[in-house]
Amino acid sequence: MTLRIDAIAKTYPNGVRALHNISLTIPPGMFGLLGPNGAGKSSLMRTIATLQPPDSGSIRFRDVDVLREPERLRAQLGYLPQEFGLYPNMPAEAILDHFATLKGVVNPGERKDLVAMLLQQVNLYDVRKKSVGGYSGGMKQRLGIAIALAGSPKLLIVDEPTAGLDPTERNRFLNLLADIGEDVVVILSTHIVEDVRELCSQMAIINKGQVVVQGEPERIIDEVRGRIWRRTVPRAQTEAYRQQYQVISTRLAAGNTVLHVYAETNPGDGFVAVEPDLEDVYFHRLAEAAGGRVPVEA
Ligand code: ADP
Repeated sequence: MTLRIDAIAKTYPNGVRALHNISLTIPPGMFGLLGPNGAGKSSLMRTIATLQPPDSGSIRFRDVDVLREPERLRAQLGYLPQEFGLYPNMPAEAILDHFATLKGVVNPGERKDLVAMLLQQVNLYDVRKKSVGGYSGGMKQRLGIAIALAGSPKLLIVDEPTAGLDPTERNRFLNLLADIGEDVVVILSTHIVEDVRELCSQMAIINKGQVVVQGEPERIIDEVRGRIWRRTVPRAQTEAYRQQYQVISTRLAAGNTVLHVYAETNPGDGFVAVEPDLEDVYFHRLAEAAGGRVPVEA
């Protein structure tokens, strides 16, 4: 049931090298693919979804050689791209009925049951007769998931689905993903750290087309435990601290700046140890990948 991605590389015709030898092993359950904008997440998602060929590498899902047998992969795939269009004048029920037909559910009774079940699953049953043109962003995303689930996929890819959703809709959407069967590989790509923290059993951070780290979120956090320190400083001093310490994040609070810095040992100078979270790891790993900041010796 595992998806194995091995040494995938892609350079676009304009010379942008979007993926450098990406290798990932993705078991069933929710997998978070986290990275900043431009990291290569969509390029990787489209490659796995057989929408664009890589220059080299291989992908296997169960017994399918994905790049050689794209039709066999597509039969088990649900894909929610970053942007998708819906006919605004059609009600959700009719749209889902249409996609279920495309997925081969030809028996009308069976299709009616499937459509009703999907609408309930994504909590759109009560608004099923309304035109989707009037739906909110979150409702459209939930309908997108229902469409992706219409073929009972074993591999579900959702590309940045929470961008632009308000916190309530974001949670609702993520919980929906978390409830999808345990035997399905679900890949959630996102640049929002909180999307990954609680729901994903496995994750990877990618940056500039490379895997920076992969594993269980808790294990990844363990790696920086005891090395993240916090101090609140006047806002005007923020830059001076940046010069002196490996600052991984800053947050404004009542005119001051709360700094998180990475250091192997206690930097003293009023810093206190903090229990790291995924955001600390994320910013530390990105800073490290960018060459980090060399701390100035005191
Ligand atoms: P992400 O999804 O993490 O934001 P993308 O995969 O969209 O990253 O983009 C990775 C890099 O590849 C970016 O520099 C982007 O500008 C570039 N890129 C993406 N798609 C294309 C394309 N079709 N042609 C040329 N460059 C592209």
